[in-house]
Amino acid sequence: MATTPNSLATTCCIIGGGPAGIMLGFLLARAGVHVTVLEKHKDFFRDFRGDTIHPSTLDLLYELGLLEKFLTIPHSQVAALSAIIGGQRFPIADFSHVPTHCKFIALMPQWDFLNFLATEASHLPTFTLRMGWEATGLIQQNGITTGVRANSPEGPVEIPATLTVGCDGRHAISRDAGHLPLKDDGVPIDVLWLKIGRQSSDPENALGYINYGRLIILINRDDYFQIGYIIAKGDFPAIQQQGLPAFQQSLERIVPFLAGRTAEIDSWDKVKLLTIQVNRLLQWSSPGLLCIGDAAHAMSPVGGIGINIAIQDAVATANILTEALLSNTLSPHNLAQVQHYREDAVHNTQRVQVFAHRILNRVLHSNGPIRPPLLLRLLTSIPGFQHLPARFVGVGLQPQHIKNF
Ligand SMILES: Cc1cc2nc3c(=O)[nH]c(=O)nc-3n(C[C@H](O)[C@H](O)[C@H](O)COP(=O)(O)OP(=O)(O)OC[C@H]3O[C@@H](n4cnc5c(N)ncnc54)[C@H](O)[C@@H]3O)c2cc1C
Repeated sequence: MATTPNSLATTCCIIGGGPAGIMLGFLLARAGVHVTVLEKHKDFFRDFRGDTIHPSTLDLLYELGLLEKFLTIPHSQVAALSAIIGGQRFPIADFSHVPTHCKFIALMPQWDFLNFLATEASHLPTFTLRMGWEATGLIQQNGITTGVRANSPEGPVEIPATLTVGCDGRHAISRDAGHLPLKDDGVPIDVLWLKIGRQSSDPENALGYINYGRLIILINRDDYFQIGYIIAKGDFPAIQQQGLPAFQQSLERIVPFLAGRTAEIDSWDKVKLLTIQVNRLLQWSSPGLLCIGDAAHAMSPVGGIGINIAIQDAVATANILTEALLSNTLSPHNLAQVQHYREDAVHNTQRVQVFAHRILNRVLHSNGPIRPPLLLRLLTSIPGFQHLPARFVGVGLQPQHIKNF
């Protein structure tokens, strides 16, 4: 039976300790709001998380006075993005002109980023992070959410809260339990996620390789590459049927410098299928409940922008709701303001991702060596062209700033 010790009651209960949840918890606690963040895993260490900390997120760390300390954590700095299409390199984004302090993407394992933010937040007296606590449902009375039911390591608990924020990602229980309506855009691609050892002579930066109907992304994690191998949705069983040697060969054909190393993939257990979704809630909130980040709008990995968007949601939410939470005057109207303010930027970003999926899908259904499209060749030869994608990826459509309370 669930117990309700008074000590668990909080002003804001956040479900999910990903980028959105930890950042929101930190910002609210910094302003003096009592916050409890529930994270179902016992640590942040999961290799399927994205690794990109974008210039506009680095600006937020600067505004919080944390940038210098953050940059002492081992990371690599990506000042430009390129794609190798049919063996030819195309500069796609150049971050040297983005209007931010840092003119680069910091590539850092997400667990280091989350540990950093959570450690900073833990110095605040109003911040509580409960690792290994899984939300199982919402407490609701007359259509109003008044807290969260969870499984703690000691058993089921109830956490009464003035506001519950669902930051529990693309499989959110918060939006289901809150009966918030979802619109799915449908995605024609999925990703196979695997690791292959890196050598010091390999390229430093994240690169996309496109050829022979395949697209492969390499993320530099120092001693290994995290590899995203894009496939058409539903194709994984057919790829498995062709066997591991065929898979290894296809990796080497697209990324020739991996030759001799793909034998590391000696079992399908080393290849994880990650399903991609793009969707959004038509309504992000109901009385007492708000969803943000992937829980409100699942982002595709295209552009590596989902973390940035989730963090921008968190900053906007803290800016809009802090005063009402501190003065105990929170209303459904305040919650609706978050969606009203953020949804155009999020939806337009998703539109760009959906457009990119269509192009990728065409690539995946082509055979033989690819010829770089004329339009791409023309665009990338225009001086300054790379500043546009850099701004979209590095800063986003609606950069946020920390409001001090
Ligand atoms: C294959 C793939 C690669 C990607 N790569 C990148 C990239 O490189 N860069 C980028 O910017 N974006 C990337 N994205 C998108 C990005 O991962 C998301 O947009 C981003 O993580 C959203 O952050 P979030 O905090 O909203 O949710 P999440 O990061 O999903 O965090 C949700 C958290 O909630 C926890 N949780 C879930 N349910 C419960 C529960 N019931 N109780 C308690 N805790 C719970 C989860 O454990 C998790 O920690 C990628 C996506 C995919 C699918």
